Amino acid sequence: MTGTSGARRRAALRARLADAGLDALLVTHLTNVRYLTGFTGSAGALLVTVDDGDVLATDGRYTEQAAAEAPDLPLRSARGLDWVADALGDRRLGVDSDHLAWDAVRDLQLRLGAERVVAAPGHPEALRLVKDDAEVAALRRACAITAAVWRNLLGWLRPGLSERDVGRRVRDAVEDAGADGLAFDTIVAAGPNGARPHHRPGERRLAPGDCVTVDFGAMVDGYRADMTRTVALGEPDPALRRLADLVVEAQAAGVAAIAAGVTAGDVDAACRDRIAAAGHGDHFVHPTGHGVGLDIHEAPILRAGARATLRPRMAVTVEPGVYVPGFGGVRVEDTVLVTGGRADVLTDAPRELVVL
Ligand code: ZN
Ligand code: ZN
Repeated sequence: MTGTSGARRRAALRARLADAGLDALLVTHLTNVRYLTGFTGSAGALLVTVDDGDVLATDGRYTEQAAAEAPDLPLRSARGLDWVADALGDRRLGVDSDHLAWDAVRDLQLRLGAERVVAAPGHPEALRLVKDDAEVAALRRACAITAAVWRNLLGWLRPGLSERDVGRRVRDAVEDAGADGLAFDTIVAAGPNGARPHHRPGERRLAPGDCVTVDFGAMVDGYRADMTRTVALGEPDPALRRLADLVVEAQAAGVAAIAAGVTAGDVDAACRDRIAAAGHGDHFVHPTGHGVGLDIHEAPILRAGARATLRPRMAVTVEPGVYVPGFGGVRVEDTVLVTGGRADVLTDAPRELVVL
């Protein structure tokens, strides 16, 4: 991102704070600090004030990096939060109570007076729901790399490789393609392991007739792609083939249901109703999807009954799955962008069961 992205996002945050009757917000969650400043170090905090007295603080290990990544912000070199009282002046302070430990809140209250410190959760997260141009560009690139890596993977997946071999190959391919790295720990589940939605790659060797589920993503500029595909190594058991066709159909219904103004729960229902109608409702054991961006799991969550309304430029996943204990499972997942019209599917790779 550039300094201007951070400045624009802080301006939007200032407007939110003013609406909420707050003078200032102390941002301590590092993902939110990154979003608002461009600073990517692993220690630091940001004070945003409605009258534009913003200050970024980090300790001596990161001051040079912070000055380079956030050149438009006054910088303090400090450990902990002792600097806040001075930078705050006589303003009241909102703290992100979702992310700041109780001890730290108590410390601020003792120093500033309890009545000057108020809980103010969720403000940066509310802005992060809707992606700006720089974020959409990073997500597009991360998803394009992910889809390209998958297409390439189809050329060499074969019986005899272990789940772990596949995981390593995915990591190398994602790095070689110019991504920052993986968006999260890759899931590779072969044969009966496919019944575990979050199976960690193990020593199991891929066998003829196995279905193999691979869930992975590339990360670009901190933005994370999330994609799952299931392939078969040779013609699978007919019951597994029917599951695969069902999940592909349910996933397509979910993507088709995505539109601005629709609720997250509506999208979940579009997937879940099809799977339940086929008698597998009890085998679809997780929400249909989640928001994605700087974090792999963000708001909104697409689960049964969720009332959050989709808006243009939200990025969400659609990932129904069916998991039959002791038998196997299938999941298909895309990262999509909500638009004014049809969803823009960012992870563009074949969804139908590929038989290698
Ligand atoms: Zn995933
Ligand atoms: Zn996901």
